[in-house]
Amino acid sequence: MDPTQVLRGDDGVFTCRECGFRYALSGAEIARVCATTVVEVRAAALAVPESLRARRTAPEVWSPNAYCAHLADASELIEGRARRIVSEDRPLLRGYDQDEAAVRGRFDEVSMDTSLPRIEAAVARFVSLVESLPEAAWQRVGMHEEAGELRLRELAHDMPHELTHHAGDLRRIGAELQAQSPTS
Ligand SMILES: [Zn+2]
Repeated sequence: MDPTQVLRGDDGVFTCRECGFRYALSGAEIARVCATTVVEVRAAALAVPESLRARRTAPEVWSPNAYCAHLADASELIEGRARRIVSEDRPLLRGYDQDEAAVRGRFDEVSMDTSLPRIEAAVARFVSLVESLPEAAWQRVGMHEEAGELRLRELAHDMPHELTHHAGDLRRIGAELQAQSPTS
């Protein structure tokens, strides 16, 4: 949940101002969208030729490798947060500076072959967690350092959102990179 990217609309539903993803799914839909989009992430990532995976289309845009490394961190973070809300009383959820992490972790150089299995393992753990939840558990809350009090129902949408949002990024930059280097 990035409070600068995902805003609560007039209807009370969080919506991503970049990709339009709406935080309005049922628990079963959250699990289903995760299971389908994690496959799309892998396909979009591996569609980028190996020689272009560490490359950026512009200095401020992440490379395909970096998007995958970010998703590996983000999917593990979201899975861990959901698990804490289920098992702890109003846990404090610390913020995560994704740009700082990308620089510190040298994400352009992290092979997507390492990141994709991490994403898939975290999403599989997340899906089995949410599928096992009784209905009442969706109302449990965590205290997000930046976004404030969040229900599990809201926070759990971060997983299908991250996957959907970045599958789109990977498709877009993959096409741009290939257009920039037509012989690769
Ligand atoms: Zn989005």
